[in-house]
Amino acid sequence: MSKKLKGKTCVYCATATATTDDHVFAKEFFLPEDRHYLPKAPACKACNNAKAKFEHYLTAVLPFGGRHPQATANLQSGVPGRLAKNQRLHKALLSSIEPAWLREGTGLYQQTSTVGFDSSELEGLLKFIGRGLAWHHWKLYLRPHDDVSVMLMPDMGSAYFQSLVGSWRNAQRVDENCWPSATSASGPPSPHSPKAKIA
Ligand SMILES: [Zn+2]
Repeated sequence: MSKKLKGKTCVYCATATATTDDHVFAKEFFLPEDRHYLPKAPACKACNNAKAKFEHYLTAVLPFGGRHPQATANLQSGVPGRLAKNQRLHKALLSSIEPAWLREGTGLYQQTSTVGFDSSELEGLLKFIGRGLAWHHWKLYLRPHDDVSVMLMPDMGSAYFQSLVGSWRNAQRVDENCWPSATSASGPPSPHSPKAKIA
């Protein structure tokens, strides 16, 4: 564990003493060459293990839905090994594949396929990430009873959210891109507002 984070309180439960430096965004979401400078936060073993369960599922499944080049490369280079270690998930994904049509930006429809996806896993991980980013950006510990809300939105909802957040003054919000198109976070930075949400 790094000296900087040693002895600190776990950012996820805000209770236990941290025993490890946790990557707020698991390294496996990124290609090896893109893993520098990922934010780290102090975490206790129990929280680290609980978060890792979500990460094992999502690092194997999310690249199927990525539309950016890094996700495609991750799907080809990282996912087969992860699924080989998790035959149950591999079988579940295979049996969930269905044909679908996808509307491209040009307006044309392209044939593709979908795989089943448990969005509650993503919500679970994003709640951890919200707490990790609050500490990373503002050294703010969200306590166990502080609410961290996660909203998963279709494109239309996302556009509305962006316009809403975009109308806030710069001092009220933070926009963070960990890597182009891979992950992004927007939300109010004020640690003093009881209604603050990290999105
Ligand atoms: Zn903890």
